[in-house]
Amino acid sequence: MDSGVVERAKRVRLLTCDVDGVLTDGRIYVDDHGHEFKAFCALDGVGTNLLAKAGIVVAWITGSAAPAVAHRARQLRIPHLVQDSHDKLSAWERLREELGFGAAECAHIGDDLPDIPVLAACGFAATVPHAPAAVRRQAHYVTAREGGTGAVRELADLILEARAAATALAPSAIRGG
Ligand SMILES: [Mg+2]
Repeated sequence: MDSGVVERAKRVRLLTCDVDGVLTDGRIYVDDHGHEFKAFCALDGVGTNLLAKAGIVVAWITGSAAPAVAHRARQLRIPHLVQDSHDKLSAWERLREELGFGAAECAHIGDDLPDIPVLAACGFAATVPHAPAAVRRQAHYVTAREGGTGAVRELADLILEARAAATALAPSAIRGG
């Protein structure tokens, strides 16, 4: 693992996630009545819980207004959900300031052009393999997992491992305190 990535990951206290293409594979199923269906990955749900247990705040910022997203966020007890967002950077700045985190303490994972301003502003920028080159260029880390197949879990594991390693190396841990 790139030591720069680990350095960035260990500082994370807020993870914001794009939904379509990150928590899903980006496909939007629409039935004859116009209802949207999305498939979420259970691995990401557990990853989100692990982050919450470690005191890391998880938020979703999405351009989608689909009720399915709100339902899934409720199931996972996602504390902050911004839907129908046309300016993700403003939404992210508002949330970050409200929670009192510096940009360096924030990670974002997103897969398309609306995510680029947030990826450029946050301390740890991540994306998924299918993201366009312009998005991948902004990312410090591209997950091995595709969107909708555990990409957020992979990122959660990376953040938690980086924190655990940092804690193990902290002077208080060395002293046994
Ligand atoms: Mg997306």
